[in-house]
Amino acid sequence: MTVRIAVTGAAGRMGRILIEAVSLNDDCELTAAIERPESSLLGADAGELAGLGKNGVAIVGDVASVLEDFDVLIDFTVPAATLANAKACGAAGKGMVIGTTGFNQEQKIELEAAIAPIAICQASNFSTGVNLCFKLLDMAAKVLGDDVDVEIVEAHHRHKIDAPSGTALSMGHVVADALGRDLEKVAVYGREGQTGARERDTIGFATVRGGDVVGDHTVMFCAEGERVEITHKASSRMSFGRGAVRAAAWVSAQSAGRYDMQDVLGLK
Ligand code: NAD
Repeated sequence: MTVRIAVTGAAGRMGRILIEAVSLNDDCELTAAIERPESSLLGADAGELAGLGKNGVAIVGDVASVLEDFDVLIDFTVPAATLANAKACGAAGKGMVIGTTGFNQEQKIELEAAIAPIAICQASNFSTGVNLCFKLLDMAAKVLGDDVDVEIVEAHHRHKIDAPSGTALSMGHVVADALGRDLEKVAVYGREGQTGARERDTIGFATVRGGDVVGDHTVMFCAEGERVEITHKASSRMSFGRGAVRAAAWVSAQSAGRYDMQDVLGLK
């Protein structure tokens, strides 16, 4: 059975890619597209917006008006919008794929309550390669243990509004969990001035922003005399788009619960 997909944030960098990615997946069909209520693109054809030619799906200004038209909502927008959509989907029993990053603690708690009745897949990064890296990081951290200093460096395009990236934070969590540390306590976000010597237990984050970098992440395990680096470089947003649509098809067949891309890829 074809899974009916809605994409919100349809005019965004990821939104346009997601519309294309849905068109490339034989199991899915785009049946709704949503943008901000004040967007000048309301009424425009979603296929044309994504550079594919008309697909007959007009962009609307809220999820509530199309709740009957889809099975799974794919949401790569901003935290406040995703939270409002999670409440609407939770109440209507519609599945969600959430790619939005940058939720604060309060928003995370609200999101948890909103999604309790439905199946959702949330991931800071939907690419298959990054999810494989999570597995490799867990292995590296367990083998190298407390003998190494762990540093995470990420680079993204100049338009990205949150830092460090959600993916870098996820990588930090994987390493911290494998080493039995609490990332909230050991993370160091940038260094400046008289910082003092590095404390072994810390996990450092460094952020680069510039140009059109789609997303680079390197985790360094630095020991005396050697260093292991695990690097992922995204060269196209389609890696996220294809993964998110794959996740949407998978979510449509799941019972209520919170899942991530590791579940979708069978990496757990
Ligand atoms: P973007 O700014 O290009 O697009 C966001 C879109 O959301 C915009 O078109 C905006 O108008 C729309 N939007 C905002 N409020 C809305 C609302 N209330 N209703 C409907 N639409 C609304 O940003 P982007 O680069 O596409 O990234 C979007 C989000 O996805 C960010 O949080 C980013 O970090 C995240 N992201 C995640 C992954 C992943 O794999 N998880 C990959 C890339 C980007």
